[in-house]
Amino acid sequence: MGIHLQLRELGQRVYGCAPQLAYRVMALLLPFPCLGCGTLLEPGPTHLGLCIGCRHLLSRPRVGACRLCMRPLYGDPNLAATAPERHCGACRSNPPPYERMVAAFDYAPPMTAVIHGLKALGLDFLGSDLASEIATSYHLGLLRGCDVVTPIPLAWSRQWRRRYNQAAAIALPLAEMANLPMRALLTRRSRPKQARLSRRHRLGNLDGAFSPTPELAKGSKVVLVDDVVTTGSTLQAAARSLILGGAASVVCVVAARTPRWSERS
Ligand SMILES: [Zn+2]
Ligand SMILES: [Zn+2]
Repeated sequence: MGIHLQLRELGQRVYGCAPQLAYRVMALLLPFPCLGCGTLLEPGPTHLGLCIGCRHLLSRPRVGACRLCMRPLYGDPNLAATAPERHCGACRSNPPPYERMVAAFDYAPPMTAVIHGLKALGLDFLGSDLASEIATSYHLGLLRGCDVVTPIPLAWSRQWRRRYNQAAAIALPLAEMANLPMRALLTRRSRPKQARLSRRHRLGNLDGAFSPTPELAKGSKVVLVDDVVTTGSTLQAAARSLILGGAASVVCVVAARTPRWSERS
């Protein structure tokens, strides 16, 4: 990843502009190293920052997954595909507060490198590429009938350090593609980082972490966007806060979903 940071810093020095814009300018002028394998790409626009070979390695959630958590529905695939609700046993016994979840990709290499580029290298243009992948995968049909798009917010301290919210970098272009407004409907208090906690502690850690803002209109149907879902505890806490704040329904849209070990080949 070092070369990506060097490109960004070089662009900033040469052009004196914001890191994301500097990187974009440099990527158009110089050979761009693929985020997945480091192969130099031709100068010009790249899709997801990946070479064609790495793009072929991207994996997507299987068709026929649970509509609430995106886990595969094991058993008879025909039954899974035609069952009226297509919800797994875990979601039926403990329903999440949102009505549907969709993910464009599995969070596995090389998608992990794309998300790292979006999150840690400041390559916010990857958000547009991920939004167009979500729009293509689901034909935006899912978002019709929704009223507003909102990203999972970062706590202010984290946003200040990173300068932008990676979920908003996906949510804004997605809202534009769906002709919906994007609004900040949630605020977030600082908590220990979710990734460092066990599943049990993750759930408790998020109690009261999110609060709705005055921008949340009563009865609105909200599209809630995040970059990666792992256990789903962040999306559940945020969706619960939206519903308690008066939202009629929440649809969760994520760029990538972390497969469980049992799903990995
Ligand atoms: Zn590659
Ligand atoms: Zn489920």
